[in-house]
Parts: sequence; C-alpha cells; structure tokens
Amino acid sequence: MRVLVVEDERKVASFVARSLREKACAVDVAATGRQAIVAAQSADYDIILLDLRLPDMDGLDVCRRLREDGVETPILMLTARGMVDERVRGLDAGADDYLVKPFALAELHARIRALGRRGLQRGVVLRFADLTLDRRRRTVERGGREVPLTQKEFALLEFLMVRAPETVDRSEIIEHVWDSTFDSGSNLVEVYINRLRQQIDHGHNVKLLHTIRGVGYRLGLES
Ligand code: CA
Repeated sequence: MRVLVVEDERKVASFVARSLREKACAVDVAATGRQAIVAAQSADYDIILLDLRLPDMDGLDVCRRLREDGVETPILMLTARGMVDERVRGLDAGADDYLVKPFALAELHARIRALGRRGLQRGVVLRFADLTLDRRRRTVERGGREVPLTQKEFALLEFLMVRAPETVDRSEIIEHVWDSTFDSGSNLVEVYINRLRQQIDHGHNVKLLHTIRGVGYRLGLES
C-alpha cells in the first residue's frame, strides 16, 4: 500500500512515515499543499494523510482541489482538537475520515487499515488458492504453513492478491509498492518477484506466481 503524508512539521512527518514503513507501506511526504497536489496527480496513492494546517494552502482547499481533479484516493485528514467545524467542512470537501492531533500511532494505523480496505475493497484476510495473507497480523500462510516474508515481499504479495487473477505490470507494482525514491532503471521488482516466488512456491507442485512475458505478473493456478 502506498501512502502520501502531507504534513509540514518535519518531526511529525518523519515519525509518521517511519511508523508506516514499519507496516510495509511505501510512503512519500509532501510538506506543502502544492507539493501534495503535484504528488497526488503523478502517482496513484492508496491513502492520503492530509494535515489541514499547511504553510501555503488551507488543507481543505487541497482536499477540494484533489477531488475536483478526479483523485479518488481515500483522504484521512489531521485536525486540531475542538475544531468540529473544520472536521465537518473537511468531510464536505471530500475527506473520508479524520484523526484529531495529537493521535496515538495505533489509532492512525487502524484508520489507515480501514480506509485502505475501503479503497482496495477487500477484507483483513486475503485468500488465493491455499495462500492466506492476514493484513492485521501481517502474516502469510500457504497450505496452513507460515511463510516468512520481509516487509517488501509482504507488500508485493498483498498487491498481487488484491488484484488477482489479473496480470499487473511492472509500473503498477512500482506505483503501489515502492515510494518516489524508486529508481525505475533498477531490477528490484524482478529481484523481489523471484524472492517471493521462492518463498511461496518452492516445494509446492502447484505454482501460484506467474510471469507473463512482456506483460507482467499474476497469481494463478495453472502450472
Ligand atoms: Ca501543519
């Protein structure tokens, strides 16, 4: 899952970004409203975390502008305590949910999980054939046996499972699993696909992760 954090307070932004990366999210940070609009137009985020107090623009205007531009990504706004009007106006401007500052990280993660599910339209546990992925416990099992995955491998598998049985191309994978620092000239996607394949398919007769030459990757049951 890829998240855009829009927050001008650097300490808060880096704290939040770090905690989300620990949950296997790819995170980009925008420090101004303008940066946020450019970022949201150039990448397909799964969630936008939007602070309403920004140096150059009112967060409500950022929210309105994104919706006018056709950005449908779920928006979680960060508001100040007591600002009930602001929250109401935020929801009217197209935000999906809000969190009052200061907030506990556990609550932030829970809200993001809930909004992420809404965006990706799937539940806490994803299933494909004998493979299960639990988004809350962050565990993966195949045939009832736990498969140990790194954060990145987990995020990659989650994306493939959400989209299964569709084929996803390399650029979609980069867009949802990596952040804007990704060097598109690198072969990291191929490296991670191979590692993931090793983890989920090795020792199983039925292979689940398939490479569709010249197109991309998909989960499927054909051998
Ligand atoms: Ca702020």
